[in-house]
Amino acid sequence: MKIWDAVVVGAGPAGCACAYDLASAGKSVLLLDKSDFPRPKACAGGLTMKTVRALRFSIEPVIQQKVDRILLESRDSSRIPVGRRRSICVMTVRAELDAFCLTKTIEAGAVFQRIRRIDSIAHDEEKVVVTAADGVLHARFLVGADGANSQVRTMCSEGGTSEAGWFRKGLAIEANLRRDAHKDDLVFDFSPVMSGYGWIFPKRDHVNIGLYCIDAEEVLNRSRLSTYITQQFGDDVKTEDFAGQYVGFGAAKHSAKNDRIFLVGDAGGFVDPLTGEGIYGAVMSGQAAASAICAQLNHRATARETFISRTKDLRENLQIAERIATSFYADPQRGFRVMKNPLLRYAVLKNYADGLQLTGLLRTTRRLSLHRSSAS
Ligand SMILES: Cc1cc2nc3c(=O)[nH]c(=O)nc-3n(C[C@H](O)[C@H](O)[C@H](O)COP(=O)(O)OP(=O)(O)OC[C@H]3O[C@@H](n4cnc5c(N)ncnc54)[C@H](O)[C@@H]3O)c2cc1C
Repeated sequence: MKIWDAVVVGAGPAGCACAYDLASAGKSVLLLDKSDFPRPKACAGGLTMKTVRALRFSIEPVIQQKVDRILLESRDSSRIPVGRRRSICVMTVRAELDAFCLTKTIEAGAVFQRIRRIDSIAHDEEKVVVTAADGVLHARFLVGADGANSQVRTMCSEGGTSEAGWFRKGLAIEANLRRDAHKDDLVFDFSPVMSGYGWIFPKRDHVNIGLYCIDAEEVLNRSRLSTYITQQFGDDVKTEDFAGQYVGFGAAKHSAKNDRIFLVGDAGGFVDPLTGEGIYGAVMSGQAAASAICAQLNHRATARETFISRTKDLRENLQIAERIATSFYADPQRGFRVMKNPLLRYAVLKNYADGLQLTGLLRTTRRLSLHRSSAS
C-alpha cells in the first residue's frame, strides 16, 4: 500500500504552490483535481507583483500585459489615477496560468491524477485516508486546496457540521470582450455594486470585465453584468464566457485545529475581502502548508504549529483588510476622500502591489487623521 507524504486536493494556485514546494523538498506528493488541464476558471487573472515574487518560478510566458497605472472610479464619477514607474500587477488568463503552474509542479516531481469525486475522508494521529470514486488513497497529510466550495473543508469541518463556522463567501462574476485592449486602463469602479466594485482588466486582445461583492447574498447575475458592460462599452459589443464563482474569506478567524489536514487558498478563506485578491493568499498559504508538512516529516516541529506561525502575518493582514473592507464599503465616498491623500494613496498602492504589513498602514492612517484633527 502506497502512503504518500501528502495528498493535495485541487490543482489551482494554492494546490500547485503547495505540491511544488513539497516535491522540490523531495517529498512524495499526489495532486488531485476533478478537471483535466487546461480548464476554465472564473477569474480576472490579475497577479500583483507580490504574488509574482512569491511564485517559485517565472510566469513570463503566460503574462499578457504589465500594468503600472490603475484608475479608481467613484459613485459620483470622479476618478483617481494611481500609478508608479514599476509594474503594479500583471495580467494573465487563468486557464493558461494554471496549466503552466501545473506543468512546473509535475516537472518538480508531483504526481497529478484526475479524480471524479471524493466519497469520504478519515484520519487518525498517523495518517489520512481519502476514499475517492477512483480508489482509496493513504497519506501522512492532506491539503484541501479545492476552492471556495471545498469538499475537504465541509467533510472535515469541526464538530461534523456541514460548513465551518469561521468561513464566509463573497461572489464575483465576469465576462470577456474581444477588443484591442493594449491602451485600455485597468479600472476599479466603485459605482455598480453596493459592497464591492466593478473591474475592467485589459489583456492584449480582450478585456475581462466583472463585478465583485463581499456579500454573497447580494444578487450579482448575468443581467446585472450585461447592464454594466453596456454602460461601459455600448450595446454593440460581443461578450462571451460569462462565469461566476464564490471566493472564500475567514482565514483570520480559523484556528487550524487539525494536525494532519490543512486548508489553503479559497478553501481556507485566504481571499482579501477588501480587494477580492485571492491568488496571493492561495500561493502563500499553499507554501505555508508545504513548509509545515516538511517541518514535521523532518522532525523539526509539528505541522500544525508551523502552519499557524507561517500564516500568522497573512492572517493578521486579512483580519485588518476585513475591518477596512467593512468600513470602506459602508461608505465608499468617504474612502475616496481619504484616497485623495497622496501618502495614504501611496501606502494603499504599495500594499496592493508589493505587500505591506497592514498594521503599518493603519498606523499611517491614524497619524494622518490625528494630523488632520490637530490642524483643524
Ligand atoms: C470572477 C472572479 C475573478 C477573480 N479575479 C481575481 C484576480 O484578478 N486576482 C486574484 O488574485 N484573485 C482573483 N479572484 C480570486 C481567485 O480566483 C481565487 O482566490 C483563486 O483562484 C484561489 O485559488 P485556489 O487554488 O485556492 O482555488 P481555485 O483556483 O478555485 O482552484 C481549486 C481547484 O480545485 C479543484 N477542485 C474543486 N473541487 C474539487 C474536488 N472535490 N476534487 C478535486 N478537485 C477539486 C478545481 O477544479 C480547481 O482546479 C477572482 C475570483 C473570481 C470568482
